[in-house]
Amino acid sequence: MTQAGKTLIELRGVAKTYQGVEVLHAVDLSLRDGEFMTVVGPSGSGKTTVLRLIGGLIHPSKGAILLDGADISAMPINRRPFNTVFQDYALFPHMTVAANVGYGLRVRGEPRATIRARVDETLRLVALEAFAERYPSQLSGGQQQRVALARAIICTPRLVLLDEPLGALDAELRRQMQRFLKRLQKEIRTTFLFVTHDQEEAVTMADRICVMNHGRIEQVGTPEEVYYRPASEYVARFFGDNNLIDVTVGGSAAGARALASAFGTFACAVAGRGALADAADGQPGKLLVRPEAITLGEAAAVYPNRARVRVEEVSFVGPVSQIRVRPLGAPDQPIMVKVASRSGGLPVAEGGETEIGFSERECHVVTA
Ligand code: ADP
Ligand code: MG
Repeated sequence: MTQAGKTLIELRGVAKTYQGVEVLHAVDLSLRDGEFMTVVGPSGSGKTTVLRLIGGLIHPSKGAILLDGADISAMPINRRPFNTVFQDYALFPHMTVAANVGYGLRVRGEPRATIRARVDETLRLVALEAFAERYPSQLSGGQQQRVALARAIICTPRLVLLDEPLGALDAELRRQMQRFLKRLQKEIRTTFLFVTHDQEEAVTMADRICVMNHGRIEQVGTPEEVYYRPASEYVARFFGDNNLIDVTVGGSAAGARALASAFGTFACAVAGRGALADAADGQPGKLLVRPEAITLGEAAAVYPNRARVRVEEVSFVGPVSQIRVRPLGAPDQPIMVKVASRSGGLPVAEGGETEIGFSERECHVVTA
């Protein structure tokens, strides 16, 4: 019996060097038993390298990889209780779906009756029970992907590694497969480590997200943490639109810290933001406010953080409207505001003057 949330895999100072070039710089990462973790970052940031190191296809140049607390850095790939799903499916074309899925159990020398029962059960899990006797070439891309998944989970691995498994699917099928994968993972309670370069996919699928950049881990956290409490400017910019305002950290009062900007002093709540509570007076930083957290016009009056602005541009983009404003006190620092669209139009006009307001709880600060 595994205890939910206990550490399954740990990377301790794991680095990887190719031909004298370090592409992964001493990363520390803990993967909890039963969680769905996504690894996201731009191309070349080291996502596949992390996956291959854990899978055992490559070995660390420095550091150690632990499974249940024991060092497995030198354990050969076939002895690791993990399985990998690749983007190109890698199915055996000359074998039926049932033979593909049962392959791992046959290699292990399981009895035929056991294999048949497990194959039936696993095909039901991926909703392919009617396709057992087909060949891969007779299946759609999404169905082939589910065969690859079934093959990966049939041997009840401790961890399933998925490297951009949905990259070859069109948008609608991709969304279907995202929901399907997530449900399947909760049903079989197996730890998934899922690599993607798509930030929206990373956010919608994860229990926790690992954000990578240039061979380093920028942050590991829940989708809400990386979105609302980014650890760095990079993470703040990576997930959706954000306003980053230059500020200097000042004194604290009533559970908030004062932040001086070129167009006014704003208050940011410190609860849950340890770095801000500890920041020295006078330290420079960036104040982050999401565009959807800003209120415009008369309704802004209820907020402690306010500024007079000129409306530069109003763009209707369907369900939301984007409004770019420039503070009168700092016209060089444009602010993006997003509001729900209304059929009668918005109470702001391009070229007009208005007020913006935002709550101290909607603020976050990153310091250099
Ligand atoms: P990602 O999956 O995030 O796109 P990778 O982990 O594949 O990134 O690659 C990280 C870096 O390591 C890249 O700069 C890539 O060129 C380099 N790299 C990956 N594999 C090799 C290899 N076998 N030999 C040399 N360099 C490699
Ligand atoms: Mg990759």
